[in-house]
Amino acid sequence: MKQLTRNVFVETELRGSNHGLVTTSDGIVLIDTPHKPSDAVRLRAEVERRGRLRYILNTEPHGDHWTGNAYFDAPVVAHEGVRTRILATDLPAHVARVASFGPEEPKLLEGYKPNAPVITFEREMKLHVGDHTFRLVHMPGHTAYQAAVIVEEEGVVFTSDNVFCKVHTWLQEADPDLWLTALESLRSLREDTFVPGHGPVCDKRYLDEQGAFIHEWVDYVRKGVGQGMTKEQCVADLTAMTNRYPMDVGQDGMAPMVMKLNVANLYDFVTGAGIHRRN
Ligand SMILES: [Zn+2]
Repeated sequence: MKQLTRNVFVETELRGSNHGLVTTSDGIVLIDTPHKPSDAVRLRAEVERRGRLRYILNTEPHGDHWTGNAYFDAPVVAHEGVRTRILATDLPAHVARVASFGPEEPKLLEGYKPNAPVITFEREMKLHVGDHTFRLVHMPGHTAYQAAVIVEEEGVVFTSDNVFCKVHTWLQEADPDLWLTALESLRSLREDTFVPGHGPVCDKRYLDEQGAFIHEWVDYVRKGVGQGMTKEQCVADLTAMTNRYPMDVGQDGMAPMVMKLNVANLYDFVTGAGIHRRN
């Protein structure tokens, strides 16, 4: 892991989301965990070298942020919706998918049980560990249950997937309006070292680029809707955004699939259907 500040270490180059390790005067806190079990086992060895693991904080409900929780013996803290989603996961399907990530994975997944959050919040909470303060703030956007983790004494924010730095943005269940609001919430923070959900560490200057890309995505799909295209036609024919950014580590070849998921969700957003249906 790369040292970012005095007590914050980050991993941005493995398959799955970025994750972080914070050393406090009273043990270790992890922020998200690896997608691949073999990476989680290696991280566990690193944690054990440094001290006692106290908590895991999860920033969102997608499996690339929490699958590795299971390889650690520590309570998990997250938004209530993250807990609900993890408990509702189709485990056989999830395990089968993760098992395909590499030769070491199937064995490590035998008897897999997710380590779901046991301490949850809805809007905001503070966790004090040793001399460190972790502020978890609900910032829906990329998903309804997104949270930012602010490590106050280090000036570091784990933004979760509301920021994809220089890699392809996944909008498969995004609410673009809330996402743009979340970007402004991030901009208003005092802290300015950002660990994004995916891609290299950045700062507030990247927020404009992220926001512009979300606008561009919505406009692109809105244009298709305006031309009278059906959802199926949009999903089949709108492919122009695929090559705007590279895919994150380990996602090569997935761009067309992500493109279709993004278009399908944004079609629902523009037309007020699916998860965006207004009463
Ligand atoms: Zn995500």
